[in-house]
Amino acid sequence: MISCNSCNVLITKYLDGNISEKEQNQLMEHVSICDLCKEEYTKYSLILDVLNEKREIEPPETFESEVMAKIQRINLYAKKSRDKKFLKLYFASSILFTLALIIAGAAFREQLLAIFLYINFPTKYAYGIYHFLEVSAVFFTMVKNVLIYLCVYISEVYIILIGLAVLAFLSKAYKPKNKKDKTVELFQK
Ligand SMILES: [Zn+2]
Repeated sequence: MISCNSCNVLITKYLDGNISEKEQNQLMEHVSICDLCKEEYTKYSLILDVLNEKREIEPPETFESEVMAKIQRINLYAKKSRDKKFLKLYFASSILFTLALIIAGAAFREQLLAIFLYINFPTKYAYGIYHFLEVSAVFFTMVKNVLIYLCVYISEVYIILIGLAVLAFLSKAYKPKNKKDKTVELFQK
């Protein structure tokens, strides 16, 4: 019967793979009666098993094409949202530009009419534009008066409240809706 120390040496030899048959028998004999060494032996042989298990982790054959498809989906999604943003910006700026043009035209409608008549612009259309600008001017004046009314007759507290409500609405409307989650969803598809 070998000692626990000798057993440990044999375990090391066993792990190194240079244990003789005789030594292996001695090791097994000791391990079968010594719980401490048995525990040690079991632990190390388990590690050895794992190390010897030459499991090659190979990606499935479709891995590459799947990854490429996912990347494509993500790119497509990014492009779509980029296009959407651009369209929104385009519409907002064109509306603002048209509005500014109408306001400027309404303010200078007399001069504009004179210029139109001077360059022999068809009178019918010149007056048509003039009347449109006149109506617009009335509308803008109305809006201006409403704003002035609001400023004068509604106390400042309400204006601050309305401003906050508008800000809250805008921030809610332009908040990116769980963009990250969507990307994750794409990955899981
Ligand atoms: Zn022992």
